[in-house]
Amino acid sequence: MGKHKKFLTIREAIRDIIDSLLRPDCVEEIAEIYSFLEGGKARSTKGTHPLMDNKDLGILYTPEKLDDEEFYDWREFEDLLIRALEDKLPEDVARVYTKVLWVNTYAGTGAEGSELGIWVETEMENFNCKQCGHCCLNLSDAYCNSVLDEDINRWKLEDRWDILKFVDQSSFFNDIWINQETGEELGRCPWLKRLPNNDRYICRIHHTKPTHCRNYPHSKRHALTTGCKGFDPD
Ligand code: SF4
Ligand code: SF4
Repeated sequence: MGKHKKFLTIREAIRDIIDSLLRPDCVEEIAEIYSFLEGGKARSTKGTHPLMDNKDLGILYTPEKLDDEEFYDWREFEDLLIRALEDKLPEDVARVYTKVLWVNTYAGTGAEGSELGIWVETEMENFNCKQCGHCCLNLSDAYCNSVLDEDINRWKLEDRWDILKFVDQSSFFNDIWINQETGEELGRCPWLKRLPNNDRYICRIHHTKPTHCRNYPHSKRHALTTGCKGFDPD
C-alpha cells in the first residue's frame, strides 16, 4: 500500500500544530518549540511565579542577547506561536509539524501548483481500527457531548429520526444522546454495540456517524496519545 499523503496550506498546518500542542500537559514542548522558532531560551515553570497573581502553568522566556526573563501564561502561546510560525518559511513550518505531529513532512506546492504549503506523510496507511471501543467508551474526542449542525441536517435528509430522537436540538450545542422523554443523559452512546463472545465493538450508525466520531483519530499523534490501538501491530 502506498504512503498516505496530504497537502496543507501554511494556515492549515499552523492550525494542526496549535491544536495538538496547546494543552497544559504540553507546556515543556511548547517552550522547546518556541525557543526553536524565536531563538532565546524558554522553559516551563509551575506554581506561583512572582510575576503572576495566581498559581498557574507558564513559560519563562529570555530573548536572545537579553537577560530579562519574561513570564507568559501557557495559554498566551496560541497567539505567540501563530505569530512566530506565520513569519517562518514553509520549510520551518514543516520541521515544526514533524516535531509536533510525529510524521514526515516537506515543503511544497499543492496539487494545482499554486499555493505554498507542506506535504504530510500521515502514516494513516498503517492505521487499522481494532474495534476495541475505547474511543466511544472513554474519550470525549470521539464520544462527544454534542454534534455539528451538518450532522443534524444530514440525519434530517436521511430521515434518521431514530438518531435525532437522542439529540436535544433546542440546546445551543446540539447536546446528544439524551432521552428526550425524560431529559436524562444516557450513560454511553446508544449506537455502540458489543459483539457477543469477544471484546470487539461496532458502531451501529457507522455510515452516518457524527463528524467528531468520523474524524477520530485525526493524526498518528492523536491516536498514540489517547490510547487508540489503531497503530499497534495486528
Ligand atoms: S480506540 Fe482506536 S482502535 Fe479502538 S475502536 Fe477507537 S479508533 Fe478503533
Ligand atoms: S456514534 Fe458510533 S462511533 Fe460515535 S460514539 Fe457512538 S458508537 Fe462510537
